[in-house]
Formats: sequence, structure tokens, C-alpha cells
Amino acid sequence: MNIHVLSLFPDMFSGVFGSSILKKAQDKGAVTLQVTDIREFAYDKHRQVDDYPYGGSAGMVLKPEPMFEAVEKIAAGRQPRVVLLCPQGERYTQQKAEEFAREEELILLCGHYEGYDERIREYLVTDEISIGDYVLTGGEIGAMTIVDSVVRLLPGVLGQEASHVNDSFSTGLLEHPHYTRPADFRGMKVPDILLSGHHANIEKWREQQSLKRTYERRPDLLENYPLTDEQRAYLATLKK
Ligand code: SAM
Repeated sequence: MNIHVLSLFPDMFSGVFGSSILKKAQDKGAVTLQVTDIREFAYDKHRQVDDYPYGGSAGMVLKPEPMFEAVEKIAAGRQPRVVLLCPQGERYTQQKAEEFAREEELILLCGHYEGYDERIREYLVTDEISIGDYVLTGGEIGAMTIVDSVVRLLPGVLGQEASHVNDSFSTGLLEHPHYTRPADFRGMKVPDILLSGHHANIEKWREQQSLKRTYERRPDLLENYPLTDEQRAYLATLKK
């Protein structure tokens, strides 16, 4: 997969893209991550990428020309999805990460300042994504969020192929709790079932913990989850 990021602050990405799983994924050849400075596509003598808003108001607006030219150069006639980071966009979810991970190429556009010229939204982008109902200074942290959540889903990136399969949201539920050694830490004990060695019972316990956690913390996720009769009965006992 190739992911391109367009930003006014490309230095922000070096730590995140150069560490941990994202670094390993690039070293393995699973993904290329390319960050381009939007300013390279501003051709006036001051390399101006923003301007005052028509009609007047506070803040500066990103101009359309550098964004269009940068996307056109990167896309080079191909038609990748062009994702605008934007607090007014569709709320980002694990399902969206899975959808993006099936693409061969993505271009992520990071806004800054007051926002960007509306023609970018109307004519250049295919997706507008918000990473939550709050306003950040720029789209960079959102772009990092998308890149991280997508790349870890690519085949061969995580150590064990299965290790993201049971993650929260991938299954539609929150994940069950985890414990490691010691079995008794200052009197706080690991549940006996996890020490029993009985794999079927452990799986059942994990499934129930996952349901319980979802019911307690994110009951909204259960509304669309295809519960089995057994799971429905378990939830009924929890509700009582
Ligand atoms: N004036 C804009 C508004 O009210 O919708 C907010 C502009 S914000 C200060 C600057 C840039 O940060 C946005 O263009 C966008 O790229 C990014 N940004 C801010 N909050 C975001 C969020 N929740 N999700 C994704 N991107 C965000």
C-alpha cells in the first residue's frame, strides 16, 4: 500500500512514522509512507499557501491551487481516494480503517489554520474524515491516527496475523480483559479460570467478559451486534 500525506508541517511525522509498527511495516515493504510539504506547490515568491477569507472573518484559509496541484502530481493520472481531515467529516471508525486498508493507495490532506477553500472539499476529495468531536490545530494528528490504524491491519504487519482480529471494534464488541504474570500481585489475583488450562472455558469466559464490558461501557455497540441466543441469555442475566 502507498499512503501519501500532504501537510504544512511534515516534520511532525518523523517520530510517529519512524517508530514501532509503522517503521517495521515500511522496513518489511508492506507500506510506503510519503509526506509532502504543501508549500512545495506554492509558486509565488513567498510560497504562500493561505490567504484571507472572502467576506472577511478571523483566521486564514488554505488556498486551492497548492492542494490541487499536489494531489494531481501524486495521483499522476491514477484515481486514489483523497481523504480530507476535517472536524465536519464522517466520524472515523474501525470499519473505516478496514475499508481504507483494502485500498492500494491513499492521499491524506491535512488542513491547518481556519480551514481550507471550500472547492477543495467539493472538487478534490473523495472522503472527509473527522477523528472526533473536538477541534485540533491541524489535520496532522488525524492523519497519523488514520495511518496507524490502517497500517496495522495490512497483512504481515503485526507479529501474529490474528492479533488484530479480536481487537475492540473489529469484532463489533470491546475486547475482554488481559492479565499476565504474576498470578498474584499484592493480593490482586488473576481470575482462576485463566490459570485452569481449559481452553474452551477460557474462550467462553473471554466472550462473556467482552459482552459484559461492551454492555457496561458501550451499550450502543450492542444495538447492531448479531447476538446468539446464548449471548442474549447471558446479557439478560447481566441486566438483572
Ligand atoms: N474552522 C474549522 C471548523 O470549525 O470546522 C476548524 C479548523 S481546524 C482549527 C484546522 C484543521 O485541523 C482542519 O482543517 C482539519 O484539517 C484539522 N482538524 C481539526 N479538528 C479535526 C478533527 N476533529 N478531525 C480531523 N481533522 C481535524
